[in-house]
Amino acid sequence: MERPNAWKKYDASSLEALNNISCEYKKFLDNGKTERECVTETVEIAKANGYIDLSDAIKEGKKLAPGTKVYVNCMGKAVMLFHLGSAPLTEGINIVGSHIDSPRIDVKQNPFYENEDFAYADTHYYGGIKKYQWVARALALHGVVVKKDGTVVNVVIGENDDDPVVGISDLLIHLAGDQMGKKASDVISGEDLDIIMCGSPLEGAEKEPVKAMLLSILKEKYDIEEDDMISAEIEAVPAGKTRDFGLDRSMLLGYGHDDRVCAFASLKAILTMPEVPAYTCCCLMSDKEEVGSVGATGMRALYFENAMAELLALTDDYSELKLRRALANCRMLSCDVSAGYDPLFAGAFEKKNAALLGHGVCYNKFTGSRGKSGSNDANAEYIARLRKIMEDNSVTWQTAELGKVDVGGGGTIAYICALYGMEVIDSGVPVLSMHAPMEIINKADLYEAVKAYTAFMNDAAK
Ligand code: MN
Ligand code: MN
Repeated sequence: MERPNAWKKYDASSLEALNNISCEYKKFLDNGKTERECVTETVEIAKANGYIDLSDAIKEGKKLAPGTKVYVNCMGKAVMLFHLGSAPLTEGINIVGSHIDSPRIDVKQNPFYENEDFAYADTHYYGGIKKYQWVARALALHGVVVKKDGTVVNVVIGENDDDPVVGISDLLIHLAGDQMGKKASDVISGEDLDIIMCGSPLEGAEKEPVKAMLLSILKEKYDIEEDDMISAEIEAVPAGKTRDFGLDRSMLLGYGHDDRVCAFASLKAILTMPEVPAYTCCCLMSDKEEVGSVGATGMRALYFENAMAELLALTDDYSELKLRRALANCRMLSCDVSAGYDPLFAGAFEKKNAALLGHGVCYNKFTGSRGKSGSNDANAEYIARLRKIMEDNSVTWQTAELGKVDVGGGGTIAYICALYGMEVIDSGVPVLSMHAPMEIINKADLYEAVKAYTAFMNDAAK
């Protein structure tokens, strides 16, 4: 089967649209380096586009008419946008779901210690990382510190050009004979991913003067005490902005394409819906996918179902049966990045079923590992409908699976939403160096994803 390179079909106006989307995406990614920052940014964009807070509508007991746009902010870490259509909710809605958490290094709750004139922050990594990739590089600190009185202190250190950065040291090659002989998974241990925070003593401090220096800076700049770290969520992420990649600027190098590229594409799509869509559309950005979709903001929590129940109550007469019908009749794209075919690691892929960078948005009938274990295996009938929608809307798309059979695998949020009996398939943008501090995507695949998700929201109903 032929899979054309998307770039070959672009005329001047598509190239202009592609470049505009890429520029907007770069900003979205740079402003949202944590799940919290992504939610803040998405809510701001939603409000500017006429979305209202669902909890306000509930308080006012406001009946919601077709065309109404509402958002749900789940603890500041997951977010959903609903644009109500003319069809009743019981006929199902068109959902594009993604996740906005990315692999990173989290600061522990009792993090600070001093060792030989360095002050360190102890950490616990989050998600699947090759730990050796996270040392000897500039890291920025993003997150919140919540004080006992409820004050939330937002922290971003290391993103402005004149900000200091922090980081984790590695052993010099000259003395690394033993280290270089180790398995890659043992080169850096998780407990040794400790961040250097300060390197000079505080004047007059007798006990642990370098740690005292760190605490005095935190007190002075943020008015926080060491104990306040107990109720903090600070994430160390690669410092710096998303960059054009390649001399032809065809790609983007950045932190957190997995899975903010799909989140961004779904946000772009829902913002272009007609005033009253035929069917209700939903852009869903979940948290905790990288650690199994657990917790109150992970997809396994009930916020989507609860929001559907509230929307039913505000648009119709609520009943449990109507809710079950609404959920079962949904159409969903579970959008997450896919493993891009890497010629330098060709042995890990089966090329004709691998996602090729620049060949458009991909659809994964199944994910999982070792005999499709843990996968949502999308229905052939549903895929046939999607083929037609993609072709009718001139989307460049491809099918893909994650690597060679039995080489590895991975999961997404698809199987969770499939529990309701709705149609779900995985879809996404191919990525090189997935889960590395800096990942690579092709701008054409981002552009085709926006087109695909827009077409899906418009046309996915049976
Ligand atoms: Mn992902
Ligand atoms: Mn991932």
